[in-house]
Amino acid sequence: MTTFCSTCGMPLEKKEDIGVVNTSGSFCRYCVNIDGTVKNSDQIFAGGVSFFMHTVEGTPLDLAERITRRNMKSLPYWKTRNDKCLLGDEATDEEYADAMKKVGE
Ligand SMILES: [Zn+2]
Repeated sequence: MTTFCSTCGMPLEKKEDIGVVNTSGSFCRYCVNIDGTVKNSDQIFAGGVSFFMHTVEGTPLDLAERITRRNMKSLPYWKTRNDKCLLGDEATDEEYADAMKKVGE
C-alpha cells in the first residue's frame, strides 16, 4: 500500500521520497527541513505553487495557488488549521481534475 505525504499528498513510493515519519504521519523529503522537522504551511504552500507552475507548463500563479490550496485542504493534516495561506479561493472541480491529470502525464 502506498503511503502519501501528510502535508502535500505526494505518494511515497520509494524510500528516498520519505523525509521523516513521526507521530503526526509520514512526510516527503520536500516537506521536511534538514533537521527533520516538518516545514510550516507557508513553506509547503510555496513549494506546491512552484511545483504546479513547473510541472504543468503555462500554469498561471493565481491558478497554481488555488490548486495548491485545494490540494492541501483535502489532507487531514491541514483540516484543523486555519493558516493564512489556506484561506482564499480554491480551484474548481474542473481545474483541479485537469491539473491532476496533467501532473500524472
Ligand atoms: Zn510533502
